[in-house]
Amino acid sequence: MKLEGEDVQYEKLNEAIRTGRFVRNSIIKAWMNGEIKSRNEAYKYCKNLADNPEFPWAKKLNSMARQAHAERAWSAIERFYKNCKANVPEKKGYPKFKKYQVRVSVEYKTSGWKLSEDRRYLTLSDGFEAGTFKLWGSRDLHYYQIKQIKRVRIVRRHDGYYAQFVIDHTREEKKDLTGKQTGLDVGLNHFYTDSEGLKVDNPRFLRKDERKIKKLQKRLSRTKKGSKNRIKARNRLGRAHLKVSRRRNDWVCKEAQRVIQSNDLVAIEDLKVRNMVKNHHLAKSINDAAWYKFREWLEYFGSIYGVPLIAVEPKNTSQNCSNCGQKVSKTLSTRTHKCPHCSYEADRDENAAINILQSALKQLSTTLGRRESNISGETGLCLDGETQTGKLARRKRKSK
Ligand SMILES: [Zn+2]
Repeated sequence: MKLEGEDVQYEKLNEAIRTGRFVRNSIIKAWMNGEIKSRNEAYKYCKNLADNPEFPWAKKLNSMARQAHAERAWSAIERFYKNCKANVPEKKGYPKFKKYQVRVSVEYKTSGWKLSEDRRYLTLSDGFEAGTFKLWGSRDLHYYQIKQIKRVRIVRRHDGYYAQFVIDHTREEKKDLTGKQTGLDVGLNHFYTDSEGLKVDNPRFLRKDERKIKKLQKRLSRTKKGSKNRIKARNRLGRAHLKVSRRRNDWVCKEAQRVIQSNDLVAIEDLKVRNMVKNHHLAKSINDAAWYKFREWLEYFGSIYGVPLIAVEPKNTSQNCSNCGQKVSKTLSTRTHKCPHCSYEADRDENAAINILQSALKQLSTTLGRRESNISGETGLCLDGETQTGKLARRKRKSK
């Protein structure tokens, strides 16, 4: 987000940036002289710098910002130690002093700055008194709570000054134990069926959107190549895809949160999404994209609420009997599972969901501690992101 302010304000940003570099270089120097031997000592050294009357500017920089720059310095030192330990040949990256560069930044943590209520103005309130800047392109900030912003970086580039907001995705929320665990089976008829037989359907708007996209696709295919109408039609289709993917993403996000909040363990099939999305059948591809997003949100909320999400090999989950384990072959049109071996009877999808839950528990007991889902702190998830169908749509359009 670009910062708009007066020249005097930019000059103050320069001072802040310079001070950030000063802190970093001072730490490196102190380390070289053997005055600092740990991260903690680096923090303490920051305070010494600020209290030293020789460097009046050091005090002006917000104290947490000073720490942030000490952290940067210490990270460079640690990187060097690590490379030495691992005996990386040639470049070990001995920490160097940073010289003047155009593209540099100063980093604030949770204090020293303030966002306006409407998130259109950023005020820097530390000793440099750079004041209030208008933010350009701050729309995305509305999706986050201010307390989720962990760092603000002021970056100087060739064409001006920018603010980067570092959002903390590693949220943790309290959740009471529900005493419940569930397996989910996905399908085309229902968005999913859980191991207790509950069916959740695709929302009606998805079907409606699907019809609309079909119509727009047809319209596009009727236009002449290279014509103005074709460009218009393509734009319209692209926007429709975007709108659909946003709406769908909102829906699956809420659904995933609900599932995670009401269970202590969730089991799903480990479907290979890449292959799924390639499918040419529109309804299926939309459904697959929704399922893919749903899984991402399940992983995300699972990590937030501390609910394990186990992905199991999709092998015979719909064929085997969840009661006795025997294989009971059935075609896609067989909606009810009737076991000739133990005479167990259940809805086809419910039987599959139970199988999924059972193999998840089995997997968990044999490979304890190994998780199939790849949870990382920083997910690419946000409520307004371009989702799978967006990309899919582009690919489809290209191939046309
Ligand atoms: Zn059986």
